[in-house]
Amino acid sequence: MKGVTVITHPLVQHNLTRLRDKRTRPQEFRRVLGEVAVLMLYEATRSFAVLRTTVQTPLAPTQGFQLQREVVLVPVLRAGLGMLDSILQLIPNARVGFIGLKREETTLRALFYHKSLPKNLRRFEVILIDPMLATGGSAVAAMDLLAELDVKRVRLVNLVAAPEGIRRVRVRYPDLPIFTAAIDRKLDARGYILPGLGDAGDRLFGV
Ligand code: URA
Repeated sequence: MKGVTVITHPLVQHNLTRLRDKRTRPQEFRRVLGEVAVLMLYEATRSFAVLRTTVQTPLAPTQGFQLQREVVLVPVLRAGLGMLDSILQLIPNARVGFIGLKREETTLRALFYHKSLPKNLRRFEVILIDPMLATGGSAVAAMDLLAELDVKRVRLVNLVAAPEGIRRVRVRYPDLPIFTAAIDRKLDARGYILPGLGDAGDRLFGV
């Protein structure tokens, strides 16, 4: 699918399989989700713009690079939190915003219950983090909020995506780069991804 990068790296796929396994307990689920998040971020940030710079080594000056823009990580609560800490170890000076969205059980509509974002977001590279792209309702609602704030550079990182969710995001945001470890079969009647990994938030926090 155009603009969707499926990260097929063996370590990503190995870890995804451990996360799918229903026997994986919350403690291990948290650790593995953190590990896979870092691996996915390598791919998701590959096209970040860099500026040339000069650096002095202990022996000689040399050419180097620095990121052109600062980074803002925006985990979608709750499950996005499971990917945040490890990504912050990779990009320690990133700022962090939070978007809290819940699904209305009957309509599956995404409703905001929390928003806190750094100011002047349009200056940054924004990475929206949510392990599951299911109906696409949360991703579209989060993107609508970022679009209202005139944010231009966003990429979406989802561990597992449903074709329905990708299509919904694509219709509204055709140019949004999406990074995922798997495009699964479909959604079930309750809006869960099949085969998926269950409720990512519940599995993370042992609910
Ligand atoms: N959210 C989840 O955590 N899992 C799904 O399968 C769908 C949405």
